[in-house]
Amino acid sequence: MQENSAMRKLPPYLFARIEKKIEEAKEKGVDIISLGIGDPDQPTPQHIIERAAQALRDPANHQYPSSVGMLSFRQAVAEWYRRRFGVDLDPRSEVVSLIGSKEGIGNISACYLDPGDTSLVPDPGYPVYGIGAILNGAEPYKMPLKAANGFLPVLSDIPTEVARKAKLMFINYPNNPTGTVAPDEFYHEVIAFARDFDILVCHDAAYSEITFDNHRARSFLEFPGAGEVGIEFHSVSKTYNMTGWRIGWAVGNRDAVDVLGRYKSNIDSGAFQAVQYAAIEALSGPQDCVAAMRRLYQERRDVVIEGLRRMGWSIEPPQGSIYVWAPVPRGYDSSSFAEAILEKAGVIITPGIGYGEYGEGYFRIALTVDKGKMAVALDRMYQAIGKVEFD
Ligand SMILES: *Cc1c(COP(=O)(O)O)cnc(C)c1O
Repeated sequence: MQENSAMRKLPPYLFARIEKKIEEAKEKGVDIISLGIGDPDQPTPQHIIERAAQALRDPANHQYPSSVGMLSFRQAVAEWYRRRFGVDLDPRSEVVSLIGSKEGIGNISACYLDPGDTSLVPDPGYPVYGIGAILNGAEPYKMPLKAANGFLPVLSDIPTEVARKAKLMFINYPNNPTGTVAPDEFYHEVIAFARDFDILVCHDAAYSEITFDNHRARSFLEFPGAGEVGIEFHSVSKTYNMTGWRIGWAVGNRDAVDVLGRYKSNIDSGAFQAVQYAAIEALSGPQDCVAAMRRLYQERRDVVIEGLRRMGWSIEPPQGSIYVWAPVPRGYDSSSFAEAILEKAGVIITPGIGYGEYGEGYFRIALTVDKGKMAVALDRMYQAIGKVEFD
């Protein structure tokens, strides 16, 4: 049986080549340090685990959950939004639980896109945005994120006929992979654009709690009019080292929250209640673990920036996320640079092309190894390729 045309249209897996090289290096016994993984290396804080363990023993949690989430979970999300962003949400109509934010980011396309529709997606970006369009027979239209524009899409560059056809726009700040935090003006522009062209804005705020120096990320919903045109996806995954638990939420526009909830009630039956209790504890319990996590990533970031500068990069530290995004030196493209660093230094970095065509010319370092190991990785890179130059 042949898979359908949407499955056949999925882009080839761009990391296949580098993964083959990683296998080869491992077989040769090379000691590899991976700076490729966008998954927190630290454990989930203990108080959250304790709450989940307690909930696990309660038979009431062994049955089907509600597909939109327990009311107490949705209330905890709403209270967190009020405390953290000053945003008021009605837990009944403006919050829906997700099995990780990726689930909702993927499914929102199924809720809004018909074959032939257009979805505006950032490039480079999290692949799920564009894949959601492809799986539903729609077209992703790539909004380039360029250094010259502060890694923000330039909305005035989107042709009017494309904007008219577009139903969804995905944005993500603090940004994976570029580490950028968006300025307030950008959100105002997005809201005006979405109003003009009747587009649902989908803001991915997965890294809102991971910012450095004096930067503070804002919720899309803090801006006037946002709730009329958009929703925000978020989860406990990055903030509380809970990527494996699979629990997140979408908040904002009532119609969008409602349609996501209806979609989910037809294809999944919601998140395990013990996991929802863990998320309630994460959002409502002590928050010192979040400040500690921020300090940890900032120290690692500083090790990377100092190491790269020593080798010849002139690079500004990222304001948020768990990534450093940097240009490849003269003489390489993103794939050949990643392969050279793997072969000569035993260090895995991610080629920018894996995040889209406008990611070519860049590589990504994930801040997910401790700072001692990070320093060793940067030293090995220096030993392997020495000083670098740029065009
Ligand atoms: C890690 C990440 C997420 C979070 O995904 P979950 O499904 O909530 O674990 C969302 N968006 C981006 C860009 C990410 O990097």
